[in-house]
Amino acid sequence: MKISDILAGSAKAYPSIEIVPPLNGITRSQLLDGIRPFMEFSPKYINVTCHRDEIEFRQEPDGTFSRHIVKRRVSETAVCAAIQSEFKIEVVPHLICGGVTKDAIEAQLHDFRFMGISNVLALRGDGGTGEKRFTPEPGGYRYASELVEGIRAFEKANDAEGFFSLGVGAYPEKHIEAANIETDIINLKKKVDAGADYIVTQMFFDNKVFYAFRDKCREAGINVPIIPGLKPISTARQLQLLPESFAIDIPLELTQEISAHASDKDAVYEIGREWCMMQTKDLIRNNVPAVHFYTMGKAGNVVNILKECF
Ligand code: FAD
Repeated sequence: MKISDILAGSAKAYPSIEIVPPLNGITRSQLLDGIRPFMEFSPKYINVTCHRDEIEFRQEPDGTFSRHIVKRRVSETAVCAAIQSEFKIEVVPHLICGGVTKDAIEAQLHDFRFMGISNVLALRGDGGTGEKRFTPEPGGYRYASELVEGIRAFEKANDAEGFFSLGVGAYPEKHIEAANIETDIINLKKKVDAGADYIVTQMFFDNKVFYAFRDKCREAGINVPIIPGLKPISTARQLQLLPESFAIDIPLELTQEISAHASDKDAVYEIGREWCMMQTKDLIRNNVPAVHFYTMGKAGNVVNILKECF
């Protein structure tokens, strides 16, 4: 089933779960056991993130360096296949432009169709190893809007118009490279105009920021569903890591509360969970179609939040 149909047919907010493919060496049953606790909540689908290959230079015995492509994680295609066959639910693989050509993306889309996957979250991705800024691959896409256009063109060329339901990313606190939120929203609209069916946001910790963003999107003529993204903070170190990695703010109240308990791991975990639960309940009251949870390899605290909120 396509996410656009799920969204159109849902009378109340549902949880959307995002998982990260495991590092190489993790077995299929370990992966599935990590996802199994979510099945209690009958999720409508699971998002699977996509990771760009890394480049490593290794010194040879003669002193020269050789270039290696390193894949540290199991591929999202393998993870999607394992979830589909075990749990018989929809999967939403993420697809990024970084490090791949348009031809490689076309091949991936054929694989998705072959696997009966009709949902994709279309993203640009970040810069590759050693790159501060994203540089498109020669023969690749520069922006996610181009990827969305490319997927719609693929459908047309393969007599499969409307096969994919396409989601795209958005940033309530603006994307790090955008000059301002207004410009970022103009660029977000390009993705919707190119054929995106819905939007999933970056994580945020202050719902007021999300509501203001949603209002601005509506004013800009973006009328597709906007799914807010949340992540419960689970360690004190994330007070630095999350803003650094995702260019987001953590409210003063939450920062102070976590800092005051920084030496007590359980207390920090509980504060993060409570905060996320408060955000989730408030979002549901404010008519979001779904809440997207970034699990980042940790099911436990998200499962607890789902128990309380859905
Ligand atoms: P774009 O929409 O292409 O935007 C990138 C920047 O370019 C923005 O500043 C935008 O304002 C600007 N821009 C866009 N179009 C134009 C234009 N036509 N002209 C000028 N400027 C333009 N990354 C991964 O590697 N793997 C994942 O699985 C993954 N999952 C994610 C899931 C979600 C829900 C979100 C929100 C992000 C995810 N990311 C993932 C991170 C994402 O790839 C990065 O944030 C990336 O830097 C931007 O991707 P985008 O699709 O938003 O890019």
